[in-house]
Amino acid sequence: MTLDINNLNVSIGNIPILRDVTLSVPEGKMIGLIGHNGAGKTTLMRAIMGLLNAEDGAITFDGQNLRKMADYRRARCGISYMPEDRRLIPSLTVEENILMPAWTNGIKDAAERLEWAYDLLPEIAQFRHRRALQLSGGQQKLVSLARALMPGRRLLLLDEPFEGVAPVLSRRLSEVIASLGSSGLCVLISESDDIHSADLVDGSYRIERGTVHAAEMQPA
Ligand code: ATP
Repeated sequence: MTLDINNLNVSIGNIPILRDVTLSVPEGKMIGLIGHNGAGKTTLMRAIMGLLNAEDGAITFDGQNLRKMADYRRARCGISYMPEDRRLIPSLTVEENILMPAWTNGIKDAAERLEWAYDLLPEIAQFRHRRALQLSGGQQKLVSLARALMPGRRLLLLDEPFEGVAPVLSRRLSEVIASLGSSGLCVLISESDDIHSADLVDGSYRIERGTVHAAEMQPA
């Protein structure tokens, strides 16, 4: 259950954004993707999810070629994505936001998955009936994480999860991400610097202007 990306090229319009990107997230590992604003972190995650088309190169997960697979089918392979900007629907309740991917993907055991998410994040169970717009930015990040975990829990892509989150909630978010990592999930986590992810990851890649540099792995 490894994510392997080989020589991936992605353009937006006519502008090349990712160039020959090669990286790997091995089974059960948590890997960082560190780069400044505009380096291409979001573009890479969107390409893995199938929200952007890659011109060439390969994206494989668990031996399956994702590159030609529709985005909804990638989600069904257990790949989930927490976008940087949360993208909650403000007028819906916390619970409705979390359940949204279960509804759109026709997930049958949504109730069990919801309870699993509330066990992982009991603090959000407390405000499950509040509208998303009533939450702080940090609370919205936790809800966004719970929603990301609804469709699948094999590979989790976290796009700058700590961005704009107050220190107390950052520590809580780190704790939750660490527990997901130790439960065997593969995680790719992006940050503009490695302030929060350094203690979480098994290794990290640097991305600069669409080019990914060789991974620096932590000693075992
Ligand atoms: P940030 O945290 O600022 O989003 P990032 O590392 O995630 O940084 P990307 O969002 O992937 O970077 O952007 C990579 C490059 O692609 C940037 O130069 C950005 O301006 C460009 N880009 C992203 N989306 C578009 C778009 N829709 N149209 C044109 N260029 C885009």
